[in-house]
Parts: sequence; C-alpha cells; structure tokens
Amino acid sequence: MNNQLFYTQTSSTAPEFDVIVIGSGIGGLVTATQLAAKGASVLVLERYIIPGGSAGYFDRNGYRFDVGASMIFGFGTQGTTNLLTRALAAVNVSVETIADPVQIHYHLPDGLDLKVHRNYEKFLQELTEHFPQEREGIRRFYDECWKVFNCLNAMDLLSLEEPGYLTRVFFQHPLACLGLVKYLPLNAGDIARRYISDPILLKFIDIECYCWSVVPADMTPMINAGMVFSDRHYGGINYPKGGVGQIAQKLVEGLEKAGGEIQYKARVSKILTENGQAVGVQLATGQVYRAKRIVSNATRWDTFEKLLPPEQMPRVEKKWQQRYQKSPSFLSLHLGVEADVLPWGTECHHIILSDWEQMEEPEGTIFVSIPTLLDPNLAPEGYHIMHVFTPNWIDDWQGMSAKDYEEKKQEAAERIIKRLEQFFPGLDTKLDYMEVGTPRTHRRFLGRDDGSYGPIPSRKLRGLLGMPFNRTSIPGLYCVGDSTFPGQGLNAVAFSGFACSHRIAVDLGL
Ligand SMILES: Cc1cc2nc3c(=O)[nH]c(=O)nc-3n(C[C@H](O)[C@H](O)[C@H](O)COP(=O)(O)OP(=O)(O)OC[C@H]3O[C@@H](n4cnc5c(N)ncnc54)[C@H](O)[C@@H]3O)c2cc1C
Repeated sequence: MNNQLFYTQTSSTAPEFDVIVIGSGIGGLVTATQLAAKGASVLVLERYIIPGGSAGYFDRNGYRFDVGASMIFGFGTQGTTNLLTRALAAVNVSVETIADPVQIHYHLPDGLDLKVHRNYEKFLQELTEHFPQEREGIRRFYDECWKVFNCLNAMDLLSLEEPGYLTRVFFQHPLACLGLVKYLPLNAGDIARRYISDPILLKFIDIECYCWSVVPADMTPMINAGMVFSDRHYGGINYPKGGVGQIAQKLVEGLEKAGGEIQYKARVSKILTENGQAVGVQLATGQVYRAKRIVSNATRWDTFEKLLPPEQMPRVEKKWQQRYQKSPSFLSLHLGVEADVLPWGTECHHIILSDWEQMEEPEGTIFVSIPTLLDPNLAPEGYHIMHVFTPNWIDDWQGMSAKDYEEKKQEAAERIIKRLEQFFPGLDTKLDYMEVGTPRTHRRFLGRDDGSYGPIPSRKLRGLLGMPFNRTSIPGLYCVGDSTFPGQGLNAVAFSGFACSHRIAVDLGL
C-alpha cells in the first residue's frame, strides 16, 4: 500500500517529456534524434555506460574492439537507403568512413573459396567461375534482388503505418510500390530456386542469407535480401573511422545539439501504464519519468515480459512469439594479434564453414572481422584486432560454477583458434590479447534476453509480412530496433528508427 502511494505521488510530480526512449541502440538513437530535430523534448535512458548497444565498443590494452556489428551498410552517398548517413545528417553530424573493397571472403566446404567484391560484375564473374553452368541463373537471381533494392531506393523510407505517407509515396512512385508489395510476402529461397538448380549454389545462397539473417534463404525475407545483396555493391560496405562506436557517439552528440537528453546507468525496470495506456517509466533506482509517448528499444521479449507484467501480455504479442523465436546468441573472441599473422592480401571480413550440414549449428559457421585492416588506429602499431564469433545458445552456458564457466570458455576459444590456424597459421603463438564473450556476456552487457541476436521465424513465414511495425497494442507504447520491421542490422534498425519517429511525430502533431 505504501509502495503504491509512493509511486502515485512520485509519478504525478515526475519530470515530463514528449518522448522517452528506453535504450540507446542505433534504433533508439535514430528515433530520438529524428524527434529531437523536429522539436520534441526527448529523453533517452540507457542502462549501460555508453550508447550503441550491439553497435558499441570497449577499450582494452590499447585495442578498441567493436562489441558486435562491423560490416556496415547505410553509409552510401546516394539514393534513400543510406539511412545511417541520413540519420547523422539530420542532426548535423557525420562520421568519416573507409570503403571496404570486399564485403566477405567466403571459405566454404569443398574448396569453395570466393570473395563478394564491391564491384557487382566482378562478384558475378567470380561466382560464375565456380558454377559456369549456372551463369544465367546467377545473374537472374541477383538482378531480381536489384529490382527490390531499386524500388526501396526510390522512395523515402518512413512509417508504413502512416496512411498519409503511403498515399503520397504511392502517387510519387506507383511502380516501385507495386514492386515492393509483390516481394513483401516472398523469401529469398523462393526466388533463388526459380533460377538456380545446382544444390551447392543453393547452399551458397543459404549462407549468403544466413550470415546476416541467421536463417537459410527459405526463411529470409526477399525484401531484406534485396537490400543487402544490392546495397553492398551500391552504397557499399563502409567502416567508420575510429570504430563502429562512433556512429552512436555522433548520434548522441547530434541529439544533445538538437536539445535532447541522454542518461547512462539508467536502467528502466518498468513501463508505467494508466488506464491501459503507457505514460511513463520507472528506473531501477525508483526514479519516475513521464512522457506522452514511450519507445522501447529493448527486444520484444524484454519489453513485454520484463518491463511490463508478463501475465498482461497483449494477445498479438503472444501470437508474435508463436511466429518468431529468439535466434541464438554468439560466442565471441576479441583478439589482439601480431600483424604478421595475417597473410598478404587478407580481407576484413571472413566467413568460415567446413560442412554445409553444420551451417546453423553452434560453432558451425565462424565469422571473422579484422577492422584494423581498414582503420589501423584501433590497435597498437604492429598489431591487429580480430573479432571472431560463432552462434551459440545460452542454455549451454547456464548453471555452472565460475571455474567451470572459465574453463569452458577457454576450451571453446582453443577449438576455434585451432580452426582458424588453417587460414592464419601461427595464430595461437601470435596472440597478444584475448577476451572471450559468451551468450551470458551478450545478455549482461547488451541487455538482450538470452543474449539473442534477434527474432527469427519459427517456421517458414510469408516474407516480412509477420514482422510488427512500431506501434504496439498498448496505446502510447512503441517498439523500435531489431524486433520490429525490417529486422536485424544497423541500417535495418535505422529504418525502424525513421519509421518509429515518423509515426510518433504524426501522432504528436509535430
Ligand atoms: C556479434 C554481432 C555481430 C553483428 N554484426 C553486424 C554487422 O556486421 N552488421 C550489421 O549491420 N549488424 C550486425 N549485427 C546486428 C546489429 O548490431 C543489431 O541488429 C543492431 O545493433 C541492434 O540495434 P537495436 O537498436 O535493435 O538495439 P540494441 O543494439 O540491442 O540496443 C538496445 C539498447 O537498449 C539498452 N537497454 C535495453 N534494456 C534497457 C532498459 N531496461 N533500460 C535502459 N536501457 C536498456 C541496451 O543497453 C542497449 O544499449 C551484429 C550483432 C552482433 C551481436
């Protein structure tokens, strides 16, 4: 009873904003900066000590490591899909970037070794050399991806929940809109099989999807595939100078310039509702803030099971949880290595798989990023960073003593380094620094349920049709980030941020 009284008094006198954003991932920050730029009073509450979430960083022994993302889309200079460039520019900031000439160097079973060059024709040529009998099918599949991309890249990417925008964009770009409607319910695998029959080439299309969607082509929406498979050759992959953390740092700088506020070490423990409507938040410290609109950049599982009472979960959320499940998290090795361990001509991003059957298994596919090949300033002179990660489930890391946990981490790291020795001979002896993160680390530092990378379909769905937009069934509460349309990836969550802020701006009459 006393608690209730305390809450009511504090709540009614609490500071009030137009919009509160819970979390400063890229989705949250894009929402916040867009709204602040439109004149809204915005407060971002971040539980950690720096912004960025999965696009954050940490410093150790002279190395600056990216927490997660390092293959960055959205920094192009033309079209409308360059959403990171646009989000920064909207608040008068920018990030210097370094172009990566190769998106991925694949090291796949049976000696299938090839690079995805920034130059589209060069990539098609290299792929065709491995599958000459599929020359036409390869071009037709990837050309179809361009059709999706060209539709997206013709229009401003805002809220599909805003009828005024939909009408406007339809009249401005009728063909592009009809094109997108056609692809919305389709998956990349459906299109790939129309043109390609070689089973190994279809496996290659699977890993092309898996490496960012964490599901094979049959489960990967064609809209996302069209975006990724084309933009890498259009805007390209560009690495932020100073590390990926620069994106969030600059967005915060822009947010503050535009009059917005951010608080760190501010963990929201509750979303407060009155008469079924979201009206504020309560921090773990008990501090209450109120706002006309609340945006959650936490995952949907965290939002509807932890920040709101799980027993009151709206029916649509329960249904969503049946359609989508949590993807695995990652086992991450952050390595500092002597420079001469990298063979001449090593590319920045690698994907390593030795057995197609293992693609989706823990420790099956190994991702390697060496961002110091693009920005040497992230490591001491004569050294490189290697971020090595592979899917892993939290259940394999629960319920053990601290000693067992450390031993298990060490054993897993040794197994992975052994596999990497094939490509980077002498790696084990040339290690200068190693930090191992598990799904538990991702859960703890990123505040993501089970450390998950995000939602993946629990069965084959109709493209992107099942992904929710930003409004929720709780009035006043919106979600943004990778558990909303169009899903994971920095440019994707930036899209979600543009859409969310647009919908809120219209709702607030800004
Ligand atoms: C290992 C790894 C590699 C990746 N590689 C790439 C890549 O190469 N390219 C790419 O584009 N994408 C990549 N991604 C995916 C990309 O990083 C994510 O999809 C994206 O960053 C998610 O952004 P978000 O806005 O949804 O939220 P998040 O990054 O999850 O941020 C949410 C924020 O909210 C905060 N928060 C959560 N709960 C609370 C609370 N209760 N109170 C206050 N704050 C809270 C968290 O601390 C966090 O800062 C990678 C991800 C990982 C993990």
